[in-house]
Amino acid sequence: MISTIHPIPAFTDNYIWAIHETESRHVCVVDPGDAQPVIEYLESNGLQLTDILITHHHADHTGGIQELTNRYSCRVLGPSSSDIKGISEFVSAGDTVTLFNQSFSVIEVPGHTLDHIAYHCEDKNQIDPILFCGDTLFAAGCGRLFEGTPKMMHESLRKLSALPASTKVYCTHEYTMANLQFAIAADPENVALIERTELEKAKRAANLPTLPSSIELELATNPFIRCSEPKLQESTHAHSGQFPSNDVEVFTALRAWKDSF
Ligand SMILES: [Zn+2]
Repeated sequence: MISTIHPIPAFTDNYIWAIHETESRHVCVVDPGDAQPVIEYLESNGLQLTDILITHHHADHTGGIQELTNRYSCRVLGPSSSDIKGISEFVSAGDTVTLFNQSFSVIEVPGHTLDHIAYHCEDKNQIDPILFCGDTLFAAGCGRLFEGTPKMMHESLRKLSALPASTKVYCTHEYTMANLQFAIAADPENVALIERTELEKAKRAANLPTLPSSIELELATNPFIRCSEPKLQESTHAHSGQFPSNDVEVFTALRAWKDSF
């Protein structure tokens, strides 16, 4: 069973999520871009690293793999469509990964990178379903399109937003306040978004992470998964001058607007 999921801060705004097993000192980390903060966390808490989950090939998600596997005997799961060094088990869409006796399904979510995958656990024993989605879905935002097309990313976000509303969303960066600033510009009359901004501002003022988010909260406030909302169609039209004829075009216009925001 999984007990707690703890954020280990890394670099300037990354979180390396540490997944704890209930009845042991075993821990899995997600996307360890840097080994040092993970080693410090494990050693200061007397924990044993048994597994690593990787979502995509970027160095700030994979840079710590080698040092961690040199030091600890652990399994490393990552996307089969990449050539990340140190992966011991390659996984792809539809695969099931068992971690601490709980089942995670692998979802392919290309867009930010082509190899990007997410891990979703909807185990009956779990209180809330959980999602590790790397740099695809962010709190009130989404990842930049380094390798994929807007259509790919739109489809990937559609898959994630169709997960149960109670799913807790563990993304990798503390980008929430900047994302909310843009979200308000794109969707200024959204009351849930205005309320969320105040709540997240208070968390950051207290130096607390704004994560995890939830699918329910993202459906109410994240413009990138709300492309079918008439208000977002209007605001992208007002900003770009082009009238979007479908959700993918709204998404494309929003992503381009955010890139220059
Ligand atoms: Zn990335």
